[in-house]
Amino acid sequence: MVNINPNGLLPKRIAVTGGAGFVGSHLCEALLARGHEVLCIDNFYTGARSNVQNLLTHPRFELMRHDITFPLYIEVDEIYNLACPASPVHYQFDPVQTLKTSVIGAINTLGLAKRLRVPILQASTSEVYGDPEVHPQTEDYWGNVNPIGPRSCYDEGKRCAETLFFDYHRQHQLAIKVVRIFNTYGPRMHPNDGRVVSNFIVQALRGEDITIFGDGSQTRSFCYVDDLVRGLIAMMESPREVVGPINIGNPSEFTIRQLAEMVIELIGGSSRIVQRPLPQDDPKQRQPDITQARDTLGWLPTIALREGLVRTISYFDTLLGTGAMPIPAPSA
Ligand code: NAD
Ligand code: UDP
Ligand code: UDP
Repeated sequence: MVNINPNGLLPKRIAVTGGAGFVGSHLCEALLARGHEVLCIDNFYTGARSNVQNLLTHPRFELMRHDITFPLYIEVDEIYNLACPASPVHYQFDPVQTLKTSVIGAINTLGLAKRLRVPILQASTSEVYGDPEVHPQTEDYWGNVNPIGPRSCYDEGKRCAETLFFDYHRQHQLAIKVVRIFNTYGPRMHPNDGRVVSNFIVQALRGEDITIFGDGSQTRSFCYVDDLVRGLIAMMESPREVVGPINIGNPSEFTIRQLAEMVIELIGGSSRIVQRPLPQDDPKQRQPDITQARDTLGWLPTIALREGLVRTISYFDTLLGTGAMPIPAPSA
């Protein structure tokens, strides 16, 4: 008898590199819920076993400790390539390793996809637009990236990975899917992740000062992780000719100061907003144009920042045991 999964699709064996990270762990969970087998590959550089702890006993889940800068010989039907530190603090800690992960990791996972003749999705980033002069950012914008600055190991690594994906597509007819992810947040970010949403929430829950870099007038557009994961799967399941690059993000744009104020309003407490120096090459504005995702994938984000923050605060409150929360339980 053919085994049909809850969506009426044939179950697949799917590799998720970076599967023990923040986004990857949610993706593994969503793929299992769709009836697939999941092979999670991670070297635990910024991710952790604890992110997939609840999946370890799942009969269709397997965890493999492996660094994708080394070749990997496995048998799967699809590959999601998410392995790469994503927070500036962590990707700048060992910039050479960050570049190796993006570039050599892409070559290895593409080589794997080529041998197996299976589709492969790349978790690219809005950072390929650098400090953008086109606003909002459309996929046809080539970006404004410093090739030699402290963010370059990540930005240029991801740009080179995109090049590799399109060259394997043209040269080897590989089925590729390139998604440019904009700032995403949610439960299972590490408390020391260093990115702005988790930093502000953790600081406010602990009653510490909230650190705005610069004057807080720079903008970002924040996407809740469940929305992103739906977009990644929609992209993978789209017709073969849909290769991207495609922006996935929530176009509601906020200044960093507005974000800090919202976090303080939701958590209450005594935290003050303090200013710290703006890091070099920090992009001044960022907002995705998601026309392509809407028209090609039928994808739209559904979770507004305030609601996503409530869910994320609830997660950190439990994790840190701060008990600071006069906040309703997450609605879903
Ligand atoms: P994360 O740091 O939580 O997850 C990255 C995972 O990759 C971690 O589990 C880490 O241990 C693993 N990893 C790193 N180097 C590896 C290597 N050499 N071999 C195997 N595993 C390795 O970050 P995240 O936010 O979950 O990001 C996931 C992916 O999405 C990354 O590729 C990131 O660039 C991309 N992305 C994320 C965002 C966002 O806002 N979250 C935005 C743009 C792009
Ligand atoms: N590779 C891998 N797993 C595979 C097939 C290839 O890790 O199943 C790696 C291998 O290290 C190789 C890289 O992917 O160097 C690129 O493979 P490709 O076939 O494109 O190039 P080549 O093997 O000719 O260098
Ligand atoms: N930021 C901040 N305080 C923090 C961490 C970050 O003001 O504690 C700012 C940072 O300078 C940037 C924005 O928030 O302007 C988003 O930073 P993050 O590291 O989350 O992501 P990225 O810069 O890669 O978009």
